[in-house]
Amino acid sequence: MGKSWSKQEVTGILSSRDPRLLDELLEAADRCRRDSVGANVYLRGLIEFSNECRRNCFYCGIRKSNYSIRRYRLDNDEIITLAKSALDAGYSSLALQSGESEDSREINKVVQLIRSIKTQSRAWDNTGRGLGITLSIGELTFDQYKELWDAGAHRYLLRIEASDPRLFSRIHPPDQSFEKRLKCLDDLRTIGYQVGTGIMVGLPGQSVNNLVRDLQFFVEKDIDMLGMGPYIPHPNTPLYKKQVPDFEPFSMTLKIMALARLMMPDINIVCSTALLTLNPRGLELGLKAGANVVMPVMTPEDNRSDYSLYNNKHYTRPQELIERIRRYGYTVGLWTWGDSRHYAVRQVQ
Ligand code: SF4
Repeated sequence: MGKSWSKQEVTGILSSRDPRLLDELLEAADRCRRDSVGANVYLRGLIEFSNECRRNCFYCGIRKSNYSIRRYRLDNDEIITLAKSALDAGYSSLALQSGESEDSREINKVVQLIRSIKTQSRAWDNTGRGLGITLSIGELTFDQYKELWDAGAHRYLLRIEASDPRLFSRIHPPDQSFEKRLKCLDDLRTIGYQVGTGIMVGLPGQSVNNLVRDLQFFVEKDIDMLGMGPYIPHPNTPLYKKQVPDFEPFSMTLKIMALARLMMPDINIVCSTALLTLNPRGLELGLKAGANVVMPVMTPEDNRSDYSLYNNKHYTRPQELIERIRRYGYTVGLWTWGDSRHYAVRQVQ
């Protein structure tokens, strides 16, 4: 169990503009992560395998109605080649990400892909465990989640984006419901996945109160993983140029990550690419704020710019990421899945 905080305490921390308070918070979060989950940073080879999406989220650059990007879907053989290079580099886990599809043929293709990756990677590695797989492919039915789980996926990231239903409905079109998102998170947990969620920080219309509630939401949902980042506007979206809150999204994201680490010491926290995009010290400070997972991008160079969830997405060569993680005083968790310790604990309770 992590430290419990009153609503007033959290509101005070998030509202403060004192840089010393941020420094103290990062130091406390770093101590907490070293005590609870250690100094290891785990890697997930990130393959953004398709930017086709049926949805029209108001903030997202690959939304269906953005006709200015080239759509792509990598074929399964190409993804398996990328998976092999992830394992050869010692990453041991993949994060497979795409836009959302309701087409059962597409879901079947992902099921086949996961089966192939699991079977082939067990033969490639010496442990016989093969690659661990995190999925992030949106809202699906219970049966589809179950099929993907049965095929071998064992972690799922589905961001709530905003835990206040009113804010959620301001950043999504009416065909997307808050209740459906909650149901998906519950379904994933029922099936047995390690479940991750997260938010965007700095959304138009977002208040400090919303963020306090978001932290409470993560605790109440007893999440295993947190993946969140600052909101970065994309020019081809309805939210572009809408007035953003008067707090600074980068340091606010760090504060929320640090508080999340202190409240939930044994979860996995991702250091998002959006943090690295906004600030050259994003990786260093994200790790200090408690992040223990980094996702080196393995999407082929030709497709990377088409997976433009937000503007000017940052890219760092995987080897450079590893060198920097070590330079900042952490160890790199190679050849291990690096599952959420929180998940293991709740399995035995
Ligand atoms: S956030 Fe996800 S579901 Fe929404 S438009 Fe972007 S890729 Fe599609």
